Amino acid sequence: MTSTARDRPILATGTPHETSHAAPSDDDSLHLLARGITRMAGFQVAVISLVIGDEIEVVSVAGSPECAAALRGDRFAVSSILEELELADEWGPLRFIPHERLTAPPSGWIPDIEPIDHPDAWHPLDALYAPLRTDDGHLVGLLSIDVPDDGLRPDPARRRILAEYAEQVTHFAVLALERRALAERLRMATSARRAIRAAPAHLGLAEVLTRVRASLTEGFDADRAWFWIPGRGRADGALDLPDDIHTLAGHLAAEAREQDHVLVLPGEAVHNIFAGRAYGNASLTTGEMLVAPIGTNETLLGAFFLQRAATARPWSQLEQEAAVDASHDLSRLVASVTAFESERATVAELRELEEYRSRLVSTIAHEIGNPLAAITAHLEILDEVEIDPEVAVSLDSIRRNTSRITKVSDDLLLLVRVGNPGHPLSTRTVDLRRCVSEAADLVGIAASRKHQRLDLCLPQDPAATCGDADELDRMVANLVSNAVKYTPDGGTVRVSVTVHDTHVELAVSDSGIGMSGEDQAQLFEPFFRSTAPGAAAQPGTGLGLAIVQRIVQRHGGEIQVTSALGEGSTFVVTLPLAT
Ligand code: ADP
Repeated sequence: MTSTARDRPILATGTPHETSHAAPSDDDSLHLLARGITRMAGFQVAVISLVIGDEIEVVSVAGSPECAAALRGDRFAVSSILEELELADEWGPLRFIPHERLTAPPSGWIPDIEPIDHPDAWHPLDALYAPLRTDDGHLVGLLSIDVPDDGLRPDPARRRILAEYAEQVTHFAVLALERRALAERLRMATSARRAIRAAPAHLGLAEVLTRVRASLTEGFDADRAWFWIPGRGRADGALDLPDDIHTLAGHLAAEAREQDHVLVLPGEAVHNIFAGRAYGNASLTTGEMLVAPIGTNETLLGAFFLQRAATARPWSQLEQEAAVDASHDLSRLVASVTAFESERATVAELRELEEYRSRLVSTIAHEIGNPLAAITAHLEILDEVEIDPEVAVSLDSIRRNTSRITKVSDDLLLLVRVGNPGHPLSTRTVDLRRCVSEAADLVGIAASRKHQRLDLCLPQDPAATCGDADELDRMVANLVSNAVKYTPDGGTVRVSVTVHDTHVELAVSDSGIGMSGEDQAQLFEPFFRSTAPGAAAQPGTGLGLAIVQRIVQRHGGEIQVTSALGEGSTFVVTLPLAT
């Protein structure tokens, strides 16, 4: 800044008028002081500015409305003010810059006054300041005074009055700045809490805590933030802490939890904990450490630790309270992330188990397949040979049981195949009317042997769905053959196909033995056979409906059953209509 009055934060004229455009609670006292100065020291303008970062901001103006309007919200670089002050005469704590010392013509708003005819006359470009400094010399603000009522540069008596006021202004300026800093800190803590609440729980604990750690560090203006989560090793955004510090962290967390508040450890204690060992931010000489527990009801889930450098300010009461709130938010977050993770782990375990089961089943089925094929081949050879009737009875039994094992083995392999989501589904258009006709052909002889009525109700137009023709054939055949099998002699089996707007519907009803509600609940479990009277007498593996359900599911459809013991059953399958 040049030594002109251009950037001086006081330039005023007109009738004395008071205004303040700072936050009312913060700066009311400063404004009262500014007014007091104008009245008691005999000046028309008093302006108070505060140092905020590397700028100085006008917070209170006692002066004319024009003056207030001109200075409203003005900010100046602290460095430029300091440069200007170097030109000043030292009047005790006051600094006076006579206009003669200016090297360039001023710009900006200048008081519209004429200097009076006097050797000590006040000139419109004269500047009078009181830099506001704390006891340790730290600049916190600036008091500027302008336009003396008597038109004269102040004599020693008035300078003394101004100096006394400057002292008071310093005191209130420090308070106002502290209050601002506090509000800013709270705002930051609130933003940290907001970030915690917004953290996506599905990301996994390590990822979530890494994100939260950044918001905590920034929001609480900490130099280091870390977590202790029991049983989670060091994957939680924690520093690579040795075991003894982890153990100690656990104790501190438990103590904080017991007190239901945060703990603040003094710098020396923290220094002793970390003595001689540097973690993460190696250059950090640690000051106070705040310990906040994480937990729900009775369970301690962990804790977070906020550290500041030894030179930084201590943890204020308000910050501690904000940390308590953040710890509540974090407790909820960690609880739901942990629940998410364990749910995911259970699902993964179940999937692994299911895969293992499928592998086991298909291995066994394959292993059985080869000897079965050999037995069947030998049975066929024996068909050609003349055999003793007694031996023929045994051979028949071998034949029946061999075909039963073959069926179980084939069904198991099919069940594994259609139940495997990784097994590709070959898709082409399949007309359900054809599936039903072929299934009816297959069961036709059995139905007529049992004197059953087999009614087919098929639409004129194709009832097309998309999928694997063999699987859909198998699904329809299973349902129709079950209906025939579990319906006593003389009963009725009805199969209908209906085309709807978006789906095709297959309904297989019978007047058979039906089943209880309890049985219906387990119907699609592999190997389930109902307890209904007469059911056990029928041959079966209990795999058919499990296969049917999986085929329907992998074709994007649904299956439902309605039944009552002794009153028949209806199976309804809906499948998407082929477009
Ligand atoms: P299964 O080879 O035993 O027929 P399924 O899986 O096809 O095996 O059927 C499972 C069980 O459900 C059967 O054992 C039977 O008890 C019952 N069930 C299936 N369909 C019917 C039906 N239409 N009426 C009555 N019970 C049935």
